[in-house]
Amino acid sequence: MTIFSRIIKGELPSYKIAEDDRFFAFLDINPITWGHTLVVPKIEEDYLFDIDDDMLGDMFKFTKRVAAAIKTALPCRKVGMAVLGLEVPHAHIHLVPLKNEGDLDFKKKIENPSPKKMKEVCELIAKSFK
Ligand code: 5GP
Repeated sequence: MTIFSRIIKGELPSYKIAEDDRFFAFLDINPITWGHTLVVPKIEEDYLFDIDDDMLGDMFKFTKRVAAAIKTALPCRKVGMAVLGLEVPHAHIHLVPLKNEGDLDFKKKIENPSPKKMKEVCELIAKSFK
């Protein structure tokens, strides 16, 4: 089982933003900006672009709702999106609140993000999810 499946099942803790029957969104534990969120399917598929068309379409619709919640909840100009998948073999989309072009830089992690602030940010986004 992947680490993200264990998070989805609640075996491991996460800062959960939202879920439905097929998708799950939670804060990245090593955010590059505050509010950096991961959207994952509940099925285990390694590579995002191996997901079948219908499900990928629905995942994108779910991701759009999460991005809207981030944009409502946090001060940012836009929400950026990226697909890496080089570390965790469970497909996921990164959503990153952006103020500047340089904010979408995966080498610039926030150092020791405090649990208190992570919780605050999580609650703000979760509250805005529709
Ligand atoms: P990628 O696979 O897209 O290259 O990177 C995986 C991402 O998942 C990284 O940004 C990393 O910080 C995040 N990540 C890895 N393990 C965990 C975890 O246990 N919990 C959370 N919330 N994020 C994780």
